[in-house]
Amino acid sequence: MEGGTLGLWQESMIGLARSERAKQVMQRLAGRTVLARRFAVIGNGGTAIATARRLHDDLGISASLCYLGEYVDDATAIRRTVEASIDVAGLLGAAGLDVNVSIDPTAIGHLRGEDTFQRNAERIGQAVADAAGDAGGRLMLDMEDLALVEPTLRALRRLLAKGLPAAITLQARLLRTRADVRDLVHLRTAVRLVKGAFPLGPEHDHQGRDAITREYLSLAAMMLAPEARDAGFRPVFATHDDAILRSVARLASRNGWPKAAYEFEFLYGVRPDWQQKLRASGHSVRVYVPFGTDWWPYAVRRIGENPRNALLLGRALLGRTYQRG
Ligand code: FAD
Repeated sequence: MEGGTLGLWQESMIGLARSERAKQVMQRLAGRTVLARRFAVIGNGGTAIATARRLHDDLGISASLCYLGEYVDDATAIRRTVEASIDVAGLLGAAGLDVNVSIDPTAIGHLRGEDTFQRNAERIGQAVADAAGDAGGRLMLDMEDLALVEPTLRALRRLLAKGLPAAITLQARLLRTRADVRDLVHLRTAVRLVKGAFPLGPEHDHQGRDAITREYLSLAAMMLAPEARDAGFRPVFATHDDAILRSVARLASRNGWPKAAYEFEFLYGVRPDWQQKLRASGHSVRVYVPFGTDWWPYAVRRIGENPRNALLLGRALLGRTYQRG
């Protein structure tokens, strides 16, 4: 698909992801479709820990666990996400696994006000710090649409000021990200660089695949500068684009970064061949593992990113891939 057509496709999928009616029907009727299981772990914290354990023991790959649910303003749903994130941090620590938890600001209360989001982020950040102890864990703030960029950056700075192990996701497609990266590479934090799942117009976004790739690599060069390493900054490259992955690995090696000092992160269920290849070559690899039952918005956004996944959506809508068990 051409860049513009892909943008339109991605926007329609974001609309579908936010449709409450589609979500209710799909999650009830087709809660166990291949679509759901392809991209998420359907189950509770214990199920997610079992996945993290398997990734660690079988493949030497770390996990970042994220309780499913986004764009919620219902107090009960928010509380459930906060409690699940706190619990899973404790479970990771107790299991002797890397304590790494991801959250979406709109899953933990941003729609009820920035204060609610901030308070909940601090509770989860504290749980991550307590569970990780000296091993050092991480609360990763996912990045949602443009309106969330400033509040998420503010939350990061407040968490860091309280000594909590917080990190943030930044989107290479956004024009403003260059300035945000420049501000953060001198801090003891991590930035997870993604292409960005929320396409916008030319006033905010780099337009087209080539421009976004060029920007991604240019931002990666800033994140892999020797000064960033000296400051204790940790670069995380979250993309499945193998040309970018290869260029980033070459750049890191040229700049003298030990492989343990930066990471590649993949989405659960996407390019497992590349995850294992990078791990086999000694790189630090992490997989973002969404878990829970509220899988519809998340899975539909994955379809927006890769039209080839539309086949899975079609099958789910026709109910042909329903699996028992
Ligand atoms: P693409 O050019 O889209 O893909 C490269 C190749 O990877 C494709 O040719 C295809 O073979 C494969 N591929 C890519 N996506 C898929 C898929 N869904 N299913 C199957 N194959 C696929 N975006 C945000 O806006 N905010 C976030 O907080 C955020 N967090 C993320 C965390 C992680 C760990 C990752 C990996 C991505 C995250 N994203 C986030 C999504 C990101 O912005 C992109 O939309 C997504 O990663 C697709 O872009 P790509 O870099 O993989 O490159």
